[in-house]
Amino acid sequence: FRRILTQKPHMAGTQDGHDLADYVRRTWLDQGLDSAHIAPYDVLLSYPHPDRPSYVALLDDSGNEMFRSSPGEPPLDVDPPADISSMVPPFAAYSPSGVVEGSLVYINYGRSSDFDTLESRGVSVRGKITIGRYGRTSRGRKLRRAQDRGAIGLILYSDPKEVVGTGSGRTRMYPDGWYAPGSAVQRGHFLYGTGEGEPLTPGYPATDYAYRIDQSESDQLPTIPAHVIGYTDALELLRHMGGSIVPSSWRGLLDIDYRFGPDMQHPASQVRLDVNVGTETRTIHNVVGIIRGREEPDRYVVLGNHRDAWNLGAVDPNSGTACLLEITRALGEMMRRGWRPRRTLMFVSWDAEEHGMHGSYEWIEEFGKIMSDRAVAYINVDNAVRDDYTLRARATPSLKPVLKEAAKMVPWPVSTRDGDTLYQVWSKRSPQTSAPDSPPEIDLPASASDYVPFVRRIGVPILDLALVHRYTYTYPNFPLYHTAYETFHLQKSFIDPDFQFHRLMSQLWGNVALSLAESWILPIDPSEYADTVQEMYNWLENGYGDKFEGSAISLDALESAVANFSQAAMVFEEELSSLGNETDPLVARMYNDQLMQMERAFIDPLGIPYRKFYRHTILSSGLYTTDTFPALGDAVRRMGSDWTDPGKADKLEELKEQLSIITFFIQSAANTLAKPASTVF
Ligand SMILES: [Zn+2]
Repeated sequence: FRRILTQKPHMAGTQDGHDLADYVRRTWLDQGLDSAHIAPYDVLLSYPHPDRPSYVALLDDSGNEMFRSSPGEPPLDVDPPADISSMVPPFAAYSPSGVVEGSLVYINYGRSSDFDTLESRGVSVRGKITIGRYGRTSRGRKLRRAQDRGAIGLILYSDPKEVVGTGSGRTRMYPDGWYAPGSAVQRGHFLYGTGEGEPLTPGYPATDYAYRIDQSESDQLPTIPAHVIGYTDALELLRHMGGSIVPSSWRGLLDIDYRFGPDMQHPASQVRLDVNVGTETRTIHNVVGIIRGREEPDRYVVLGNHRDAWNLGAVDPNSGTACLLEITRALGEMMRRGWRPRRTLMFVSWDAEEHGMHGSYEWIEEFGKIMSDRAVAYINVDNAVRDDYTLRARATPSLKPVLKEAAKMVPWPVSTRDGDTLYQVWSKRSPQTSAPDSPPEIDLPASASDYVPFVRRIGVPILDLALVHRYTYTYPNFPLYHTAYETFHLQKSFIDPDFQFHRLMSQLWGNVALSLAESWILPIDPSEYADTVQEMYNWLENGYGDKFEGSAISLDALESAVANFSQAAMVFEEELSSLGNETDPLVARMYNDQLMQMERAFIDPLGIPYRKFYRHTILSSGLYTTDTFPALGDAVRRMGSDWTDPGKADKLEELKEQLSIITFFIQSAANTLAKPASTVF
């Protein structure tokens, strides 16, 4: 599968992308799934101009070009050779076209705090072209922040700090290793999305009859041009920058001073950014395969992975696609021997994830009501195998136990002192605390990949799984992410030569899915959820308890809602454990419905403030970094340090409102666990 999937570039909306969708559909039918069909949507996509590559140039005093960035990554000799002749050149998807000229300001990672630093140093980005490095925050947010502050363009590059190893023996660059050469460029989309889905049909499916807003009405689309380059080209720009030297935390690993700008060093005087990128509404193709459940066909366990890639996608996403096709192959085999799951298994190969998760968003917008009623869980795998060190898992709290149990059943494929099973190795290499025997770390859902609409829009519990490298912090993704060098050669030579770790991921993914599809009582754990909510409450109280007290705002109602939820979870689980395995199917169904409804109870149909399409009151991350309830956490952060300032009266009202809203939703979740005919009403 891996070879076939990574033979050609297969960007969303292209013929090769469509062909690969057909390949997945036919494969699923051949493997024996009950059905496999294509679910198309017409969405706004973005492509580079076919003949006029975007570039950045350095100009001297007379306006002559001293240097021009490379139009694309040069092919590198590898075995087997990768066909990168039809490669999609580096571009900033959804950037408007245009030519701008100006001097450069370095914005580091382009976080809010970075722009604050610039302001405190008296460096303005207004009327300037900004240059920043990848990492720490999304492309769309970097661009939006620069745009909001009056910048006229953005250049993003990958600094060696983020894409070249510093440990001994870990520094070899492609095609001799896993790290990025200076010519490698990360592509990606620059939408400023806040959960609305495809830009022109916010909140509704992009069907052929859908009403579409004008592009100028979309808040997601950037208005200043952007381009992306590798560090060889970035060095040429950065070393000609003037201005004062940046603080050490702003420095990357290039052999230069790193300066703020905006002055340029002679003979350089300006930079030209020439961007040729266009948008087009085209058809994308999700593929949906189904194995009908025998006893509960109306309960769905959904497995998903995107198929589209900026280029060959050997890691992102097709290491995951290969695992998905391997799972369906095995299940097809089991079906030929008469097996059929208790609940329905649904497999989805999403399109246009790279352009902004359009495939999954539009599908959830079309079928959200049904999925909200019937989906048990969604299990996402995007990059299945980035490296072979440890598992990185994200989960809604209630699914943590089923994941751990599944990991205990999967053998680790190579011998290591860290253990024989995935669970043992994972616990050792990614413990929750520094204590070596603590259980493995499992994160809450984040903002990337196709699980987002499931959890944040409609409250379906999710898991997101990937096998990753050791240095999670320094290399947030993997060095060749979204570059032309994400090839079969990369996987075969440096990541997983015998594909044993692909097998491991298929086993894990398949085990979790089967537990969810076959268990008599759903393996959804309310107490784990209650613990997470309790931790969020503790964070709030420890950090801000005195501020609440000083403002005479009582946390009592929230505290008791949190306690009620824990209590309800405990009572519910006690009752469950007193049931035998041979319970009446209707009784089992009653408990299972309660387990499913618990997550839905956190969904606020009116949405989170400032992001109305994110509706999960616990698991939509905050606008600011906090470890507490997202909307309340944001409101708390907006108060700053002095809550008594009369100028903050409006903000204080907002905080009180958010406190009452989150209290209600936690109590509402507790109510879903109460005895169905009890006095809760
Ligand atoms: Zn991906």
